[in-house]
This record gives sequence, structure tokens and C-alpha cells, in this order.
Amino acid sequence: GAYLSAIEGGNAKLNAYVAVTAEQASAQAKASDAKLAAGQGGPLEGIPLGIKDLFATKGVHTQAASHILDSFKPEYESSVTSNLWRDGAVMLGKLNMDEFAMGSSNETSYYGPVINPWRANNSNAQLVPGGSSGGSAAAVSSWLCAAATATDTGGSIRQPAALTGTVGIKPTYGRCSRWGVVAFASSLDQAGPIARTVEDAAIMMTSMSGFDPKDSTSVDLAVPDFAAAVERGVKGLVIGIPREYRMDGMPAEIEALWQQGIAWLKAEGATVRDISLPHTKYALPAYYIVAPAEASSNLARYDGVKYGLRDTGKDITDLYELTRADGFGREVKRRIMIGTYVLSAGYYDAYYVQAQKVRTLIKRDFEIVFNDGVDAILTPATPSAAFGIGDEDMKADPVKMYLNDVFTVTVNMAGLPGIAVPAGKDGAGLPLGLQLIGKPFDEETLFAAGRVIE
Ligand code: GLN
Repeated sequence: GAYLSAIEGGNAKLNAYVAVTAEQASAQAKASDAKLAAGQGGPLEGIPLGIKDLFATKGVHTQAASHILDSFKPEYESSVTSNLWRDGAVMLGKLNMDEFAMGSSNETSYYGPVINPWRANNSNAQLVPGGSSGGSAAAVSSWLCAAATATDTGGSIRQPAALTGTVGIKPTYGRCSRWGVVAFASSLDQAGPIARTVEDAAIMMTSMSGFDPKDSTSVDLAVPDFAAAVERGVKGLVIGIPREYRMDGMPAEIEALWQQGIAWLKAEGATVRDISLPHTKYALPAYYIVAPAEASSNLARYDGVKYGLRDTGKDITDLYELTRADGFGREVKRRIMIGTYVLSAGYYDAYYVQAQKVRTLIKRDFEIVFNDGVDAILTPATPSAAFGIGDEDMKADPVKMYLNDVFTVTVNMAGLPGIAVPAGKDGAGLPLGLQLIGKPFDEETLFAAGRVIE
């Protein structure tokens, strides 16, 4: 009830929700109350969650914030959200995002930008919440839900978490099922939680995770009780500090934040070691080949026949062309064109194959340091604090927007887990985050080390 009134009062300003399921939420909450009163109920009984619009929710608005999925309501429920409902969670509604999760500012949404709750009242200087899970991060940060689902293909959980002062974890690839999550770049996509504390994120991730035969890349591994790892501490852990993440022109306050994080971990008994991940500088360009390539293939299904929007054409080709021209936004079209180009005969070897080779090298960089005794890696989460809505530089040059992902894409390319935790503020009082990168399926260490920093 309190959250539903908060949404009624706060959403018009922030634009975090694209659909609110108030009636179902009230009914579910009542059922949860009854269970709790009877001493029953699951680990998330009655906890009100927001769900990113990328997750299929049966009979409920699921449009990946795109015009092309107009009025689409799936007949099925994603595995991750099914897991959450099994454990008693309650859905408040669907959260805004960049269209098809393509973006770093939540400005590519068909529903318009999400406003970062930090400085939301200053109407001349409103900020982006990051993206693509901008609605999730803004809703959690402003108490419009207790926690939210999100997805991360190149940073879309961690970057918005960092820009809103919340906690976000991208689990190891294969930990959460992708079944029923609208695909962007299938070999990189992972679901995860955004929450207000490391502990909340750990509790929610325990529910979201688990083997699913319906996703061929889902991994059949037992899910630990992540919350039990939160207070484990960092004594005896070796934390790597990769020198290649010290980018040219890195703002002094990001460097200072990083040093502060190092000091906190040392004070709790961790050993800190300088490490090298030599292929880091190729990660961003390689990501912006692999991700659009997969996206161009995944988005081929939106043809005006099977889902959502359908424009009338004089024949079937005309129908396809008109629907796709009308239904996809500019950034999505840019990705489809890049992806089609790098996969086309004659360019395939020079771009796509080359990018896949780079991906292997990036993965190997991490394997070498982890095999050498490093338990986790500490880096900044983003190159800056939240920037202004409608930033002219980023509008004029998409590569400037892509640079926001410089610290996060390596993790997806290598399939590793990564957590962003709030670690301080910039000179203007805006939140800044640090990122911890872990070994495959060792999210527990990230929760323990993240808890020391938050
Ligand atoms: N910002 C990156 C992109 O636009 C990552 C998005 C994501 O993780 N979904 O591709």
C-alpha cells in the first residue's frame, strides 16, 4: 500500500514505471499478509518489487520500452520472475528502460527518459539515472519499490546503480535464466537485482538464480544462500587493482574514490595487489561489434506479423519495412545497421571474427590473474557521476555515450560476475560507485567485499 501511494505521488516526476499493476499488487499483498499471519510464506513473502519491462510477465505490459511491441502482453512468465513469485514477492509494475536495453542513459526509451531522483527537483538541471535499467535504479533509489529486477549486457545493472547510489549485481553468465527475457545480445545478457543494500541484493539474487532447462546456457549449479556470505568479511582476500583501468583523463574524484575503496578493504584485512589486464582497451570496441551483431539477429523477429505493432503495407515486404521503420527508435536502428554490416559477407572476418578473438583474449586476461591468487578485482564503476538529460556532446556523438560503459563491458565479455556498490559522492554531492569483479560463480566474495565498501 505504501509503495503504491509512493508510485502515485512520485512516478509522474521520475517516469520510472511504464505500467503499474495496482490491483494485482494489492490482492497479492493481502494474500501474503494472510500467509505471514499464519506463520507461512516464502523468503520474499509480500516484498514489493518493480520489474524491468524486458521481463515477460504473463498478461502484463511487456514492451522492452519499444513502440514495436505496442500492446504486447505475453502468454508466459519469465523464469526469473516466476522464481520471485514462487518465493512470495509482489509485482508493483513494469519499469522504464532504454529501448531493447540499448543505451546508458535511459533516453532511448519510447516512453521518454527517466529522471534521476538525485536533483529531480531542480528542473533546469535534471540528470539521467544511467541505463539501460534506469527505471529500476530510479525506482529503487526513490523508494518506489523495495528492489527491482534489471538486466546487464554491457553494464546496464551496474552503471545505473552507480549513478543512483544503489547496489546492482550482474551474476556470472548462466546463473539466472534468460528464458522469457527479451533478448538483446544473447551471449552477454544476464538478469540481476538492483537494491538499496548489498544484503537486499543478495537475498533477491538467491531467489532469481537457478538452473533452468528452458535456457540452454543456464548452468546446473546449486545456488548458495547469498545472504549468508554478506557478513563474511574480506580478511585474507587478495584484491587486484588493474592498472589499465586508470584511464587517461580520469577525474581526480574517481581516482580518490578508488583509493578510498582500497583503504577500506585493507583496513578489513584484505591484501591489495597491482595487476595487469592488458587487453582492456580493446573491450569497448569489441563489445560494440559483438553486441550489435547479436542484436541484429535477435531483432529480426519483430516483423509486424508475430508481435505488437503492424503497419499496413501494399505487400508483405512493404509491411515489414513500414513496421520496422515506424517501430524501432534511432539507437535500435543504428545497432541493427552496425550488426548487419559486421556480419555481412566480406566484413565478417575483419570485424565479427576479430571481435570474438579479442573477447577470448579479455577472458584469458582475467583467468591469468584469478589463477595467480587474486580473489576479486576493484575498479571504478563509471567514468563520472550522473550527467545531464539531453547532453549535447553525447547526442551528437554516440561513441561518447558508449564510453560510459568502459569499466563494465569487460565483465560481460568474460562472462564474470560484477557488483556496483555506492562508495561516495562527487564534488557536487552526486553518488559514485565502485565495481568489484569476481571469479565465475563466486558472487559470494562480491557480496562480502561489497558490504565492506557500501
Ligand atoms: N550501454 C550498453 C549498450 O548500450 C549496455 C547496455 C546493457 O547492458 N543492456 O549496449
